[in-house]
Amino acid sequence: MAISNAAPGKDISAEDLASKFPLAAKKDPEHVTRFSVAGVEFGGPLVPIMAGPNTVENEAMIVDTARAVKAAGGHILRGGAFKPLTFPYRSEKYFETREQGLEWLARAREATGLPVITEVMATEHLPAVAAVADILQIGTRNMQNYPLLSAVGQTGKPVMLKRGFGSSLRDWLGAAEYIMVEGNHQVILCERGIVAPHTHRGTSRFLLDLQVVPAAKEVTHLPVVTDPSHATFWRPWVKPMALASIAAGADGVMIEVHPDPVNAAVDPLQPVDFAEFAELMTAMRAVAAAVGRQV
Ligand code: PEP
Ligand code: MN
Repeated sequence: MAISNAAPGKDISAEDLASKFPLAAKKDPEHVTRFSVAGVEFGGPLVPIMAGPNTVENEAMIVDTARAVKAAGGHILRGGAFKPLTFPYRSEKYFETREQGLEWLARAREATGLPVITEVMATEHLPAVAAVADILQIGTRNMQNYPLLSAVGQTGKPVMLKRGFGSSLRDWLGAAEYIMVEGNHQVILCERGIVAPHTHRGTSRFLLDLQVVPAAKEVTHLPVVTDPSHATFWRPWVKPMALASIAAGADGVMIEVHPDPVNAAVDPLQPVDFAEFAELMTAMRAVAAAVGRQV
């Protein structure tokens, strides 16, 4: 694939690949990184599905959700304990569970054997989060928090780096390089929607940039996944965008699943319920097979 030599800006130049992100850059067209997280391989034929609630609300709901995710064939349990909530006020309906949520995630993993992905928001939380997480998630708002990127790099744990909602591919790969330069090459890139003028619903804050999947794969060997739940913010659009992600070459998909979506503590417009998730898994298997992959 010819790489543009255009000046730095939107395009990624050959000079960028050599000097700005030599670790994240592809060395040749076949160069792809594969690594396993507790037996789940990223970057190979499998398209791992990471699923679970936005927020780990209580022990019963995370264990029940983990069981449903596992029964439907999901590979990794997601759930936020430390949450980047838009507003600082907490109530019975809008909360995060922090250290307690991490304990409940650990119980859900024990109950099901599913590896866990959860967000780390700040360096001071890292020891507690890294003790439970199989994959550390960096949220969109922290993509350019360089001290945090260096710190997660130093843990040696796999990291899923969400794309900043206003960030270019070039800036995203620069952020990945901050993790990799610490010697940690287990980095997953996650497209989670970007700010755009037209999102087709007032409640949809972001637009899933599917074009970045093939664009990223032209220049990086790292696995690229998508999060259609956060991107669309709208349950009926999660299935079509999840299927489209796999068709576009995504190396994984993150899906929000909740036992009672309309009563979810955070982002109730976007999760699917257990039955919808099982149906989505079946549909994703069919699309994956059509592009030579498997779910
Ligand atoms: C999340 O996955 O819970 C989350 C907050 O995502 P994002 O950083 O993409 O908004
Ligand atoms: Mn969210």
